[in-house]
Order: sequence, then structure tokens, then C-alpha cells
Amino acid sequence: MRKDLRQAVIAGNWKMNKTRPEAKALIEELKPIAKDKTCGVVICVPFTNLETALSLTEGTNIKVGAENCHFEKSGAYTGEISADMLAEMGVEYVILGHSERRQYFAETDETVNKRTKAALAAGLKPIVCVGELLWERECNITEEVIARQIKLDFYDISTDDLKKCIIAYEPVWAIGTGKTATAEQAQEVCKFIRDTLAKLYDKATADAVTIQYGGSMNEKNCAELLSKEDVDGGLIGGASLVAEKFGVLLEEASK
Ligand code: PEP
Repeated sequence: MRKDLRQAVIAGNWKMNKTRPEAKALIEELKPIAKDKTCGVVICVPFTNLETALSLTEGTNIKVGAENCHFEKSGAYTGEISADMLAEMGVEYVILGHSERRQYFAETDETVNKRTKAALAAGLKPIVCVGELLWERECNITEEVIARQIKLDFYDISTDDLKKCIIAYEPVWAIGTGKTATAEQAQEVCKFIRDTLAKLYDKATADAVTIQYGGSMNEKNCAELLSKEDVDGGLIGGASLVAEKFGVLLEEASK
């Protein structure tokens, strides 16, 4: 068991939810719940809530992340936010390559790779999402899809930089659908990701990378998923919007 080599991290992905007063209320509820938990605690919030989240979590163990960033440093990219802009605010994490970004905003492995490099250059910790479509799983090409995403998303990223990244395995068919991968399926693919990293980098590096599972993980199914050897926490959508539910995940990941 090599779980001792890395920290379990539970990261909330709020997506396009919570106005400023709602964000404030949720963070105030989360603070006492998160306190004393030994797992990493991250909340990735809409850009409009970053300032609120940063000021309310100051001095606590809750870290703040954004949900995306652009790969250029600045320029004519109306509506976009650069990695430097996030870092300058004090943001620590950024989700990249989420399947909703790939599906609805035409993001590709090439742009995920560029965004990852930009985020690392700005000093952010990327949470890079990979995962297969249902059709790809049914065609029995899950491993091919995941290997391709890992190779492309981390192309030309150094060993030291890889260690600053979290990888979230998120089967697309399980996100926001209520369908969770079984703990065995999650373990199988998280281990495959680690084995792929060991081939591309080396075993010690692969063992040091936090690999999360994401996809309808909640207070009821988290214990089994998080008990798996290569599942080092979770990227949590729906259940991160309710403090008590998120608290159960934090508790479980801290065991
Ligand atoms: C996600 O958005 O990354 C996610 C896993 O969502 P949910 O937990 O709602 O499936």
C-alpha cells in the first residue's frame, strides 16, 4: 500500500453555482467542518466568488481554486482569465480539462496541455481531468483513451512540475448523472493512470502524484471509493454544494 506517499485531497467543483451571498453562507458552514481534517481541502469556485472565498478562508485549512484559466498571459481574449491573474489574487488551484469544458467549450488535449503549462508557470496547482465517454468504455477502449489524454495533457511537463499536479479520473458518463463508477472500476483506471505515469516518468514520481476519482461521488458511496489503493481523494460536484455532505467526504478522506 503506497497511499502513505501522497496526500488525499477532496476538491469541490462548484461549477456555475452560488451567488456571492450563497457562497459566503456555504464557506462559513464549511469552515468548522473542515477544521482539523487531515486531507487536503479545496473549493474551486466561479471566478465571481474567488475574492469572497479567498478572504473568508484566510488562515483556515481550506484552499481556493478556480475552474479554468486561459493559456495566454494576456491579450485579446474577451471573457477569459489568465493563470497570472488567478495567482496574483492568491488562488492556489485550478481545474483544467474538465469534461464539461471539453464537451461544451471545445477544449482539446492540446489546449489542456497549454493551460497546464501556463498554470504551472504562474505557480498554480492544476487539477487535470481525464476520463472516457460511455461509448468509449462500451467499445473497450478506456485505457487507450486515458493513456492518450495523459500523454497529450502532460506533454513536455517536467517531473518536478508533474508532482505539483493532481489528476482527476472522471468517467464522463458518471459526472452529474448519479451513476458512479464502481470502486473496482475507479481503482482500475486510477492504477492504470499511475502505471502510465511510471512509464512516462518513473515509479517514484508516479507514486507521489495524487489521483482523485470524480463522478457522482457523495456521502453514501465515498467510503468504498476512497478505500481503494490508488484513489487519493475526489473531485466533487453536486455533493460539494452542501456543507454536511462535503463534510462526510472530508471525514472519510482523513481516515
Ligand atoms: C465534477 O463536476 O467534476 C463532478 C464529479 O460532478 P458530480 O460530482 O456532480 O458528478
